[in-house]
Amino acid sequence: MSAGDALVANAEVMTPEHVFRGWVRARGGHITALGTGAAPRPCDGERVIDAGGLVVAPGFLDIHVHGAAGRDMMDGRESVDAVAAFLITCGCTGFLPTTVTAPWAETVRAVDAFADACAHPPAGARPLGLHLEGPFLNPARRGMQPAEHMRAPNAADAAALLSSGRGWVRTVTLAPELPGALALVSVLGARGVMVAMGHSDASYAEAVDAVAAGVRRATHCFNAMTPLHHRQPGLVGAALDLDALCVEAIADGVHVHPTALRLLWRVKGWRRVALVSDAMAGAGAPEGAYRFGGQDVVVRGGEARLADGTLAGSVLTMDAAVRVMIAAGVPPREAVGMATLAPAEAAGLSGTGRLVPGYAADLVALDGGWRVAWTMVGGRLAWRA
Ligand SMILES: [Zn+2]
Repeated sequence: MSAGDALVANAEVMTPEHVFRGWVRARGGHITALGTGAAPRPCDGERVIDAGGLVVAPGFLDIHVHGAAGRDMMDGRESVDAVAAFLITCGCTGFLPTTVTAPWAETVRAVDAFADACAHPPAGARPLGLHLEGPFLNPARRGMQPAEHMRAPNAADAAALLSSGRGWVRTVTLAPELPGALALVSVLGARGVMVAMGHSDASYAEAVDAVAAGVRRATHCFNAMTPLHHRQPGLVGAALDLDALCVEAIADGVHVHPTALRLLWRVKGWRRVALVSDAMAGAGAPEGAYRFGGQDVVVRGGEARLADGTLAGSVLTMDAAVRVMIAAGVPPREAVGMATLAPAEAAGLSGTGRLVPGYAADLVALDGGWRVAWTMVGGRLAWRA
């Protein structure tokens, strides 16, 4: 027996494709078996965890997160570790540390630190790769991102960032309508990077071209992109319409109205909507003044804003996002799927996000109010309420 061996019994198992009363067995950090009904007899020394009827689901995956617990991950490795330690308390077992557009040297340093965290993971939630949100964005849809550090899409800059990322860059968000963007999409796709479009002024036609070039995801759908108009469907129209696209949704009820979140789920289906936090340092920390993207941000009333009122990231956590979707009318199993399997597929993460043999034994147990009771990473209990 090793520390990653466990038998979770008496659980409401949510895979998330199916739900049944049963058990899950982990060996060496991976799921080896699961089944309905009473758990099999434990092996010698196997740790048995009685879930007491709680829902046991794959751990949540946050594929778009900048900070939490008072820390901005652009500040370096220590901040990544602090965020990982906080996210595990929110049921999140894996995440993609996400850059924000910043001075070039700062971006390279952050990418290097993120890659180090992926290669030598901290305690808590596991960094599973990087998401580069910028610098290839459109200033016209900058949101809170600093336009002065944005760059025209080009292969040389991308190669430099991929090199600093040492194989850990999983997602690049770019604006596909910028000159040179579609060529870069091909380059990134050939390197196995999932390309998402966001902070983009693309028309519907330009978004269709982007999908033809290999873009497969829309970053924080509805936010910082051309909206849906019935004569000009825009990027939102493309995101809703094109089956090839998954979408991210910041499900805090602030960035996107609950009705729009529900519409997104109705049109795309749960498996193509990845809930993301887009959280900044103020998540899981007292309200007040913060820095984000080199700017002053005030967190008040659960909203993070620049002085001019522009939303600047969120204070959302993945467990809260699931609760927002359930409150919006999405069946719990599908809401959980939008925080597990959907983000895994949207970011091209293999071996995580569902409960099947061979996948990581990364689990979250949820109570009747969809609050986190405990979290398991690699078959080991990582946190308990
Ligand atoms: Zn973001």
